[in-house]
Amino acid sequence: MTSWVEVSERRLRANYRLLVDAVGDETAVLAVVKANAYGHGAGVCAPVLAKAGAEWLGVADGDEGAAVRQALQAAGVAHEDQPRILVMCSSQGEDAETVVSCGLTPVVWEQQQMEYLAAAVLQHGGDAARLPVHLEIDTGMARQGVAPGEGLRTLLHWLKRQPRLVLDGVMTHFASPEEAGSTQTLVQRRRFEDAIAAVADAGLRPGGWVHAGSSSTVDNQDAAANLAWLHSLAKSVGARSMVRSGIALYGYCLPIEPEDTVVEAKVRCGLQPVMSWKTRVIGLREVQAGDTVGYNATFTAERPMRLALLPVGYADGLRRELSGSNARAGGWTMVKGRRAAIVGRVSMNLTVVDVTEIPEVEVGDEVVVLGDGGTADDHARLAHTISYEIVCGVRAESRLV
Ligand SMILES: *Cc1c(COP(=O)(O)O)cnc(C)c1O
Repeated sequence: MTSWVEVSERRLRANYRLLVDAVGDETAVLAVVKANAYGHGAGVCAPVLAKAGAEWLGVADGDEGAAVRQALQAAGVAHEDQPRILVMCSSQGEDAETVVSCGLTPVVWEQQQMEYLAAAVLQHGGDAARLPVHLEIDTGMARQGVAPGEGLRTLLHWLKRQPRLVLDGVMTHFASPEEAGSTQTLVQRRRFEDAIAAVADAGLRPGGWVHAGSSSTVDNQDAAANLAWLHSLAKSVGARSMVRSGIALYGYCLPIEPEDTVVEAKVRCGLQPVMSWKTRVIGLREVQAGDTVGYNATFTAERPMRLALLPVGYADGLRRELSGSNARAGGWTMVKGRRAAIVGRVSMNLTVVDVTEIPEVEVGDEVVVLGDGGTADDHARLAHTISYEIVCGVRAESRLV
């Protein structure tokens, strides 16, 4: 194993607590562990979150849900103590079996999906079985969900007469949660209210849950207003409110837009990065002034230097945009608590860093590729992306520390 991810149990629990405290007693926090817990290892993170009290976990598809169920079992979380698991993306035909057999709760928005699920319920559980489903409303993402209006009414009419499925939740997803004073969020709120009214008009109840919002919803300047809105909407139909948080659990957040917005930001200030992606020095060498480093000689030593070789590269998720040339400083790693700059191009499985000023470094020493001192936000800035893509891109086995 050339590199590994250390997941801080203490920080993951602390971030989760921070979110739970921020939303208040009346609203639940669904802990999102999709995409292998944003690269942190769902098998490692899910049991920690379950033991921390998460009532709900969120995954992308049935296979992720099955793997999380297995990990919870293996970690000794008794079946009756396991969180419910929401399958947030595809619940098409191939997922229906898994959803039913693993006791997952699917997000649905089309009749066809629900027909597959109903058939799987019948096959698996017989006549008496009913599967709880959460209905997604498309309030402005145009990605998943049924739009309020005629389509929704037709779907509700069908669902009402479907004996195998029971409406357990109604949800939507905000497109611009990090935008302070977003008019889009206000439009989405209004559409969601219409949808909830349509559910009630159809003689259905949203069941247990009304949920909307993600990490940023908990922490922008409109957080108090949006959370109060969500809670009163849920309460008006006898349901509980919930937000779905992913990135904040892992210690990151989208920057609030616009940049000069004044936010209380009590959540983001307290978040701590959960991932430390580490490797070891596999080689050391001295180079002289004039020597070049790496593909295309984009870096030329201007003085004698000592360089350390690391067995990680873009195949492992270390972004090539972090390459360092003479013209443009790139990213860095942390060696013995000090920055070691990346010199030359990050290549597929290898990266070279400058340890001239850290003379005590030896082969075998630990190096922090990403973590304290060089965060996913730092990598994201250099790679012109968001922290989400950085952490999701890390390909290394994770362990709890
Ligand atoms: C991924 C996802 C979330 C979590 O978003 P974060 O910004 O990571 O908190 C919430 N809801 C849905 C539907 C998602 O797909």
